[in-house]
Amino acid sequence: MTDFNATKRLFSLPDGVTYLDGNSLGPLPVAAQDRVAACLRDEWGEMLITGWNKAGWMDQPRALGDRIGRLIGAAPGSTVVGDTLSIKVYQALASALELRPDRRVILSDKGNFPTDLYMAEGLVRSLGQGRQIETPSPEDVAERITAIGNDLAVLMLTEVDYRTGRRHDMAALIRAAHAVGAVVIWDLAHSAGAFPVDVTGTDADFAIGCTYKYLNGGPGAPAFIYVAPRHADRIHPALSGWLGHDAPFAFDQDYRPGPGIDRMRVGTPPVLQMAALDAALDIWDQVDMDALRIQSVALCERFIEGVEAACPDLTLASPREASMRGSQVSFRFEHGYAAMQALIARGVIGDFRAPDIMRFGFTPLYIDEADVDRAVEILSDIMATRQWDRPEYHTRAAVT
Ligand SMILES: *Cc1c(COP(=O)(O)O)cnc(C)c1O
Repeated sequence: MTDFNATKRLFSLPDGVTYLDGNSLGPLPVAAQDRVAACLRDEWGEMLITGWNKAGWMDQPRALGDRIGRLIGAAPGSTVVGDTLSIKVYQALASALELRPDRRVILSDKGNFPTDLYMAEGLVRSLGQGRQIETPSPEDVAERITAIGNDLAVLMLTEVDYRTGRRHDMAALIRAAHAVGAVVIWDLAHSAGAFPVDVTGTDADFAIGCTYKYLNGGPGAPAFIYVAPRHADRIHPALSGWLGHDAPFAFDQDYRPGPGIDRMRVGTPPVLQMAALDAALDIWDQVDMDALRIQSVALCERFIEGVEAACPDLTLASPREASMRGSQVSFRFEHGYAAMQALIARGVIGDFRAPDIMRFGFTPLYIDEADVDRAVEILSDIMATRQWDRPEYHTRAAVT
C-alpha cells in the first residue's frame, strides 16, 4: 500500500493553496530543488562536458523511460524520454503509417487535444499520399473502426478527454483496431500517473505521453514514447536525428537507426529537465497504481457529491460513472472563466477550458479529503455570493 500522507510531504506547495491542477502542471517535488541544484553545481559546473559520461546524462533518456515504463505496463527497454509530446505524436504517427503503407485513414476523435490533430495534419500534408484524418465524436469511434475496416491505417486516440475527463475503453478499441489490421497509437497525456495503464497487456503498438502533468516532472519536462518490442527494430524514424543513430559518435554520413527504442531518440536530451523528472520519479517508484486509482476515484466522487449538493448552477460535464473517467472532474458554468479566477484568488487552483468548462484534477499523491472539502466550501461560497461577478475576474489572461 502507498502511504498518501507520506507522499504529500514530498511536494512543495505554497501555504494556503489547494492545488487541483496537477492534470495540467504537477507541483514541485521537494527533492527536485536539490537535485536540479546539484546537477547545475556538481555536474554541469564541475564536470563540464565530461558529465555526458561521468554523470550518466547520455543514458538518462532510457533510464527515465524504464521508470515510466513501470507505470504504464511497458517492458524495460521499450520506453524512452525526449522532446515534447507534440513531437512524439509526429514520430509515432509517421512510423505507424509506414507500417501500413497501403491504407489511407487515420482515425482519431474530435475531442482529441488539438496539437495531436494539428501534428497529424502537418504530417499528412507533407506525405502527400492521399492519407486522410477522420475525427468522429468519441462515442462513434468503435463503429468507425469497423466501417473503415481494411482502409484503416492508424487509430490514434488520447484516452482521457482533456476537457471532460471522459475515458475511452482502450482495451476494447485496440482489439477492434487490430481485428481490422490497423496500428494503434495511445496518447497517455492524462493517463500516465493518473491510473494503472497496461500497454503490454492491451497490446498497444505505440504509446506517448508527457511528464509535466500527473508525473510532476516540471514545466517543459520531456515527453516519452513507447514502441511495442515487436515493432521497435522494424520502424523507420521520420525524425532521424543523430542520437537515434546506431553509432552517433561515429559521425557517419548516412543514417542507420539505432537498436530498438534508441531510434526514437532525436537530439541532445534536456539534462536539467531530466534531473527534475528523476526526482519526481523517485516518488512514483514507491506508488502502487491500484491504490492510487482507488483513492483518486474516492476524491473525485467526494468532490462531485459536494459540488452538486452546494452549487446548483454548475452542471457535471464529466461522466458520472467513475470507470468512464480519468482523474479529473469538470463542471460547466456559463461564467466558468470568472468563477475559476475567483477560486484561484482564494487559493483553490483549477483551470478553465473554453467555452465553459471548469476543470479540477485530483491526484492522491498530494490531495486529500480535507483539500476536497475546502475546495467545495470555497467554491460554494463564491457561487452563493456571486463573487465571480467582480470585474477583475472577467479579464482573460493568455494562458487559461
Ligand atoms: C498536454 C497535452 C499535449 C501537450 O503537448 P506538448 O507538445 O507537450 O505541449 C499534447 N497532447 C495531449 C493529449 C495533451 O493532453
